[in-house]
Amino acid sequence: MNPDQASVRQQAVLQELGVDVWVRRHPEGEDVSAEVAVRASHVPTDIDAGDWSALNQTIRACTACELHRSRTQAVCGVGNENADWLVIGEAPGADEDRQGEPFVGRAGQLLNEMLRAAGRPREHVYIANILKCRPPDNRDPKPEEVECCMPFLQRQIALLQPKLILVVGRIAAQNLLQTDTPIGKMRGRIYSYGDTDIPVVVTYHPAYLLRSPGQKRKAWEDLQLAMGVTGEQG
Ligand code: SF4
Repeated sequence: MNPDQASVRQQAVLQELGVDVWVRRHPEGEDVSAEVAVRASHVPTDIDAGDWSALNQTIRACTACELHRSRTQAVCGVGNENADWLVIGEAPGADEDRQGEPFVGRAGQLLNEMLRAAGRPREHVYIANILKCRPPDNRDPKPEEVECCMPFLQRQIALLQPKLILVVGRIAAQNLLQTDTPIGKMRGRIYSYGDTDIPVVVTYHPAYLLRSPGQKRKAWEDLQLAMGVTGEQG
């Protein structure tokens, strides 16, 4: 696909998204180097050695925190296990808990549109959450639950070795990047994951964008930043 074709395709998708202005946030040559190192906790050896199948089996059987009591099922992750983009959200909601897949329902559809606009259809990326089990009534994850569950995400990252992590929503971003910074201030920069040089870009959660469609333009700016990291034109 040549750049003009890509541009036409993206414009069509952006119209669907309700984004009518393209703004390139980081012009050529602007320094967007890694600014925050992420603390990565230790991955237990039993999941450190296995493949995707072994990891997913371990997640499905996990009872390490209280969330296993109220879940319908653990939601491991979905997508291309050779993807170069990893999308990380917060935790399963009611639809995800029922269907066993992250980002389904209306928020999932919007995420799909966002990814398509970025030239990365859902089936070309891998999608996972910080927590693999649904918190009751969609409450925020407790720190101890995140602590228990984080090794699974760390193993997913180790297996995938993505070229980019797109982290969506305040809870996911703050937990992954170990910060209390408001999401509005986290956007527009490129972070690095743990002691790796895997770039991390932060954007809004699609559920928030459904409530606040006026922020979609900023989400598009974030996607353009992410696309720039992996070599695509925004
Ligand atoms: S949320 Fe994570 S740590 Fe807690 S039971 Fe589910 S898989 Fe295990």
